[in-house]
Amino acid sequence: MNQPIQNAHEETLDPQDWDAVERLGLQIMREAVAHVRDVRDRPIWRNPTEEIRAGFAAPLPRSGTALETVYGELTETLLPYPLGNIHPRYWMWYMGAGTFGGALADFLAAIDGSNLGGGNNAAALMDNQVIAWLKQMMGFPESASGTLTSGGSMANIIGLTVARNAKAGVDIREEGVAAMPQPLRYYASDQVHSCHQKGMELLGLGNKTLRRIPSGADLRMDMAALRDAIAEDRAAGYRPACVIATAGTVNTGAIDPLTEIADLCAGEDMWFHVDGCIGALIAIAPRYRHLMAGLERADSMALDPHKLLHVPFEAGCALVRDADRHRGTFAVHPEYLEDKPRGIASAEYLQDYGAQTSRGFRALKVWMTLKEHGVDKLGRLIDQNIDQTHALAALIDAEPLLKRVSDVAVDIVCFRYEPEPRMSDEALCDLNTEIMLRLQEEGIAAFSDTRVKGRHCLRVAICNHRTTRTDLELVVREICRIGAELRAETR
Ligand SMILES: *Cc1c(COP(=O)(O)O)cnc(C)c1O
Repeated sequence: MNQPIQNAHEETLDPQDWDAVERLGLQIMREAVAHVRDVRDRPIWRNPTEEIRAGFAAPLPRSGTALETVYGELTETLLPYPLGNIHPRYWMWYMGAGTFGGALADFLAAIDGSNLGGGNNAAALMDNQVIAWLKQMMGFPESASGTLTSGGSMANIIGLTVARNAKAGVDIREEGVAAMPQPLRYYASDQVHSCHQKGMELLGLGNKTLRRIPSGADLRMDMAALRDAIAEDRAAGYRPACVIATAGTVNTGAIDPLTEIADLCAGEDMWFHVDGCIGALIAIAPRYRHLMAGLERADSMALDPHKLLHVPFEAGCALVRDADRHRGTFAVHPEYLEDKPRGIASAEYLQDYGAQTSRGFRALKVWMTLKEHGVDKLGRLIDQNIDQTHALAALIDAEPLLKRVSDVAVDIVCFRYEPEPRMSDEALCDLNTEIMLRLQEEGIAAFSDTRVKGRHCLRVAICNHRTTRTDLELVVREICRIGAELRAETR
């Protein structure tokens, strides 16, 4: 091995000076620790300035720049302007807050560099172990299968696809949807997440195939309405194929009646899919896991480690009870991807469980999160978020100017600022929207707004291991302060 490693005309992407890279790496690590440690001291969000925006319109670089210069640029243009979800008072939409261990995992996954499409290597063994652990956490049998995905949307689409192929009544992979003897029908509550509409469209079934069943006053699927819809569709020649139960809706956190839906699906020969992107992980929470009873009976489910497990984006997971049906929906083995008796190609192809060929090593950050913290603590933190949401609801109820619009089912609460009893819905919508935007722009807290049964409201979703009760008290005070200022401005 005494030959020169590189010939003069050959190039590589490796650094010229490994010692300099090591020094830069240590600097980045030091500053990254401070970035996460001190997140509470920074505003939750700031709007990227015109100068920053202009920087992202810079032309394609033709030649390279020293890595430390590139990093220096990022500390000014990128890191000061995040979405804000690692901050303790980020309760907008629904997403995890990240962890330092998770960030290290993403770094190490890239260092390992394995492509998790398939192959005989330790990363693939770890991917299998993570699926085994997630099945156990969800009460799924060992014989079930699963796959890590970009997120809950892809995980749901995997479930809806396996359901379609199972109920199509034809070899749909070969013949396509046009060959189905009967049109299918899927059912979900009117609170269903929008990714299911995308899914129905992508599957070639069309949005209308997904019948929205009215939700009751508690925003859970109305079972009588579901039964009526199924009977009506059967009589009209449709094949009722699948019920999508939501375990924690995005609007209010309502949990559809999982056990009743499981019973109904068993009786009607229908596929039972659970969208557990918000709630499924509550199955590991010691005090609230009873809320998820019935989840373990799903034929397929979607859950989201990048939400209540706080794994950095992206990490979703689809689980399917019948592993053969799961593989039978996606596996394709062209001549260039054949199993071999030994060597690198001698393992199961992980790409057989979804639409991707190349797959990132997202298993590592889920694995490291479970190893570092243990499932017991992760479960307690979910309990903590649900308790905090009940505590916030109590603060809202105790404040005469705030009115609650939804019950607390899990870790979401909807409410609005209502200073006067006779204000129109439109005026209230304007006022509450302005409060929400000022809280963001002043860097205090982030939450979203929505409509519950037609009424505009503010929505707080506490999926955040950094939130404390003090944060909740602060935000109630700040809502009332900004509300009072706005009313003074309009007088
Ligand atoms: C977040 C969410 C999704 C989508 O999951 P992603 O991880 O964002 O793709 C689907 N359903 C529900 C109920 C969700 O909360």
